[in-house]
Parts: sequence; C-alpha cells; structure tokens
Amino acid sequence: MDNLLYKQKNVWDTLTEEDRSAIGPFISAYKAFLDRGKTERLCVRYAIELAEAKGFVAYRPGMELQPGDKVYVENRARAVTFAVIGARSLAEGMNIAAAHVDSPRLDLKPLPLFEDSDLAFLKTHYYGGVRKYQWVTIPLALHGVVVTRDGAVVEVYVGENPDEPCLTISDLPPHLSKDQNQKTLAEGFAGEGLNALVGGEPGAGLGSEEKDRIKRGVLGLLQSRYGITEEDFLSAELMLVPAFSARDVGLDGNFIGGYGQDDRACAFAGLKALLDLEGAPDRTAVVVLADKEEIGSEGVSGMQSHAFEQFVGDLCDTQGVKVHHCLAKSFCLSMDVCNAFDPNYPEVSEKRNNAKMNYGVAVMKYSGSRGKSGTSDASAEVVGRLRQVFEKAGVVWQMGELGKVDQGGGGTVAVFMSRRNIDTIDAGVPMQSLHAPFEVAAKADCYMVYKAALAVFREMK
Ligand code: MN
Ligand code: MN
Repeated sequence: MDNLLYKQKNVWDTLTEEDRSAIGPFISAYKAFLDRGKTERLCVRYAIELAEAKGFVAYRPGMELQPGDKVYVENRARAVTFAVIGARSLAEGMNIAAAHVDSPRLDLKPLPLFEDSDLAFLKTHYYGGVRKYQWVTIPLALHGVVVTRDGAVVEVYVGENPDEPCLTISDLPPHLSKDQNQKTLAEGFAGEGLNALVGGEPGAGLGSEEKDRIKRGVLGLLQSRYGITEEDFLSAELMLVPAFSARDVGLDGNFIGGYGQDDRACAFAGLKALLDLEGAPDRTAVVVLADKEEIGSEGVSGMQSHAFEQFVGDLCDTQGVKVHHCLAKSFCLSMDVCNAFDPNYPEVSEKRNNAKMNYGVAVMKYSGSRGKSGTSDASAEVVGRLRQVFEKAGVVWQMGELGKVDQGGGGTVAVFMSRRNIDTIDAGVPMQSLHAPFEVAAKADCYMVYKAALAVFREMK
C-alpha cells in the first residue's frame, strides 16, 4: 500500500556520501559568487571570469563551431549567455537554463546629491520589489558606473571592505515613532525618504558662510577619487546594495544567508553545471544570466530582449538550421527561487503545496497571481519529462507554489521563454525572506538545484 502514497523527501535522508562531501566546496564557491557579484554587472563579469577559466571564449558571428566548443555572448555588460555546443544538430533543440542576476536594491536617482541641515544625502529610487523598512539602518555599499562628459566609463565600488566607509539610511528611534507606528508597513516608510547619508564634513576651505559646503565636500571627494562632477550623475548607473558578505546560518551551518540569492543561487547552480559538463553534451546546453527580471524582464538586457534568439539564430545559421525549429524542440529550465514555507508565517502558505527548505529543488508548474495570471503554466507532459530526468539523476525535488491562492504572487522569465515556443518550467531554490537584504536558503537545496541543472543538460531530450 505504501507506494500509493506520495511522500516528500528531506534531502538529508537521501544524500549519498559523495553528495554530502560535495556540498561544502560547492557552497564556498557560491559564497564567493554572491560576494563578488552583488550587481548584475559585477555578477556577469565574475561569471565570465569563471567561464573563461574553463575554456569559454567570446562568440564572434560566423565562428566555426564544433561539438564541445564553449562560447559566450555578453549583452551590454549586464547579461550574458553561455553555450556548450552539443553533439546533435540544433534542429533537435537545446537544453536551456535561464536565471537572472539582477536583484532588488536601491538605485541612485539621476540627480541624487543634496544637502540638508549640514548633512549630505543621496536620493534613491528602489528597484524591484523591496519592503522599504528592511533597507534602513543597515550598512550599504555603493556600486556601479558613471559615464563622464568625455565618454569614459568610471567604475565606483565602495563599501565592501570593512576598512572603508559604507552608507546607510536612518530610521526613527522608538522614542519618537508614535505616529509612524500607527501607519501601515507600506506607508510607514516613504520611497522619497530612503536617502542615504553620504557626508558631513565641509569641503576644504569652505567657511560657515558658504552655501552647500557639505555637498561640495562630497563632490570634491568624488572629483579626486573618480574624476567625476555632479553633472556626471546624469549618465550613471549607481546602486546601493547591502554591504555585508554571505554567511553560514544556524548553529549547524545548515543554511546560507546573504544578499541577492534571488536569483544568484540559481544563476550559480546553472552556470556551475554548465562549466562542469565534460565534453560535448547530447544537445547544445545554454545558460542565460538575464538582467531586469525584477522589473518585468524589460530592456535590451532583459529576457524579453531579442538578444537571445539572435544569438541562437547565429548558432543555428552555422548548422543551416532555422532558429524557430531549434526553439520549438528546446527545453528551458527557468531557474528562479521561490518562497519556502516559513513556520513564522504559516498563514501565507498552503502547507501541502508550498516548497520547504531542505526538501530539494522547488519545481513550480505555475507562478503568477490571482487566477494564475502572468504565468506560463507548464503542461503535465513537461512536468512528466522533468520528473523522469530528475528521478534518473537522483535529484531530490518537490513542487512549490508562491503562497496561498490570492495572497500575492509573482512571475519569472518562464513566461518569456515559453512565448518563444520553448517548453519551459520553473525550478529553483526555496528561500526565506525573499527580496530582503539577507535572504536565507538551505545549502543542500542550492546543491540540489545544481544537480538538477546538470541532469537537464545531460539527460533532457
Ligand atoms: Mn527571481
Ligand atoms: Mn525576485
């Protein structure tokens, strides 16, 4: 009778000795990936560095490609697609893993710098779904690029090293928060109030009668360190991200906590699986690290951009294959994280159908909100194919969904991949505190997602 019942498996009850000993090194490399790649630009750069060390080269249109060849295409420094050419023709489709490397954060406004009450601040505009109260009173690092008047691209990277200063945004003390406490969480913290403290010392030689002397002090610093002026902020992409590093969580170190695990947990797992492929896979294996997922996959570097099929089209041309024939036969694992059941907040999840930490890869047949709005909703056949591949490779997995019906919801790049006529399904790491500055995931789940991507590259037909 027992085999009639479905029972979810805790990863720790099923791990082989080999897997058990592989988790530690995997997580060490993952932590480095999180710490080195806190913005899409930094993450893309580091991913390319890792890939080049494994023999990947920048793709040039018209390049002759043989099975086993490894290429990548960077898209405007903010997204990248990697491919390992398969033994079979592209007419038989590819196996794709698509993740995103942008994460919620606080972008600087085009004219961010102002002075008030002898203090200088940077104004921000939040990017992605943030709960604003989580972003105050934590150390923030400032990363990005500034394009100067003469076109030079100047990189700004400050706040990661504990020896250098960070920025922060203030909050009220409890002694003075009577009125704020009466507001809802959404109203208690205003977007226009998220101004980061950036300076307090007057510029050199500026006496008390001088106007904006603190702001001018900060501009003087920026000039001497980066050679930029206030006008250069107009052509800049600067962002504030949590300044702390990824850490082990739990006395047993069972979890990993860190910023940007949505979706770098999956980006790393997918990339590492691709880098670990030996020789030519059966079908061409592709990893997309996309930008702009957190704001709807828009823009040239987002998953809605035609950059993807243009690259695939180039590859298909070399084999005399029509790109739409290739896409129609392809499979895409839309690798993204989902919420893990959280016993501190059981009321937002439906326990039987919510993914749990330490129960392996969370497959989501659908995401979306309300009546499955905004999801591609994978077919039973697609789930069935994936189930067989996972079973064969010993991947521990579970079904997940984004909380209770009508509680909220969200989307992924899956909808944009399926629009390309690619069979697509979401799968990734279940996580607590999604979009918070410090998201928490179980290490074993991160590792299982790596195994899942590897299994798809090796086995998906
Ligand atoms: Mn995501
Ligand atoms: Mn997200």
